[in-house]
Amino acid sequence: MAFPKYTRCSICNKPFRRSKGASSKQRVCTATECKHEAHRRACAKWRKEHPFRDREVRLAKRLIRRTTLEEWLRDPVAAIDWAQARDDVGLPTAVLVEEFSKVLVVWARETVRQLIAEAKGLGPKTLPVRTRETVSAKLE
Ligand SMILES: [Zn+2]
Repeated sequence: MAFPKYTRCSICNKPFRRSKGASSKQRVCTATECKHEAHRRACAKWRKEHPFRDREVRLAKRLIRRTTLEEWLRDPVAAIDWAQARDDVGLPTAVLVEEFSKVLVVWARETVRQLIAEAKGLGPKTLPVRTRETVSAKLE
């Protein structure tokens, strides 16, 4: 008969037997104090490794505007509360990111249109002339 495998609790250092079905990663006994202390240490370690995560999440929640799917598809840049962004990151940074976002949206839409036209067998020269004018107008 094999002896049951005991291991030592990483908190109280008392020997314990792993719970049935628990993985070999279980390092803490079943005592409530030890489980709480292990959780506290794990949270402290995580916060040390991710010191700004809470601030990032709160900032992201402030910046994201609720939009419908239709609104978002029409204008993805509107999904950001830019006035709030100016308050949080400053005017120059907010304007830079907003304008760059607009450029990216136009680029993505025009690229998709190009790919669709090519898939339909239409060359770039057969695209409507107003496409370029539309892009220029959107960037202004
Ligand atoms: Zn313990």
